[in-house]
Amino acid sequence: MATHFLKTFPQLAGLKFTHAWGGAIDTCTRFSPFWGTSHEDKVAYVMGYTGLGVASTRFGASVMLDLLDDLDTERSRLSMVRKKPVPFPPEPFRWVFIRITQWSLQRADDHEGRRNLWLKLLALFNLGFDS
Ligand SMILES: Cc1cc2nc3c(=O)[nH]c(=O)nc-3n(C[C@H](O)[C@H](O)[C@H](O)COP(=O)(O)OP(=O)(O)OC[C@H]3O[C@@H](n4cnc5c(N)ncnc54)[C@H](O)[C@@H]3O)c2cc1C
Repeated sequence: MATHFLKTFPQLAGLKFTHAWGGAIDTCTRFSPFWGTSHEDKVAYVMGYTGLGVASTRFGASVMLDLLDDLDTERSRLSMVRKKPVPFPPEPFRWVFIRITQWSLQRADDHEGRRNLWLKLLALFNLGFDS
């Protein structure tokens, strides 16, 4: 990020970043949250925000309350709420799947967003950012 910042603002060369933060984010094959319940529907969960949960967790919690109260609402009727994402394939296929996807996303970034066959294939199966 610091390199990109200085590439974007070369006039600020020499500036030092004194602090940084990072951490793990959770994801799934459709790169958007998914919901579920457990313990005889007494516990609800939502996961898979893929690094975009700061605002959307509020919506995520509203859906969980709908599920816990078994309410038929505009939220609980959404297909993204009712359908679970396709699971990631088991290792070592998962490693291959993720590496090809990362390479393809970088390539799209380097080519004005033009997606290769792999990203188009993922979208066809409702996988990835374009799902
Ligand atoms: C480096 C980084 C940058 C990000 N940048 C952005 C961004 O720019 N915009 C954006 O929208 N999102 C961003 N995100 C993603 C966003 O932070 C998450 O999507 C969001 O915090 C998910 O909220 P959550 O409540 O589901 O989970 P969390 O925020 O992870 O909260 C889960 C809580 O449960 C607690 N917990 C865990 N286990 C237990 C237990 N056994 N008992 C009791 N408590 C427990 C944890 O301590 C934690 O407080 C970023 C994430 C990271 C890591």
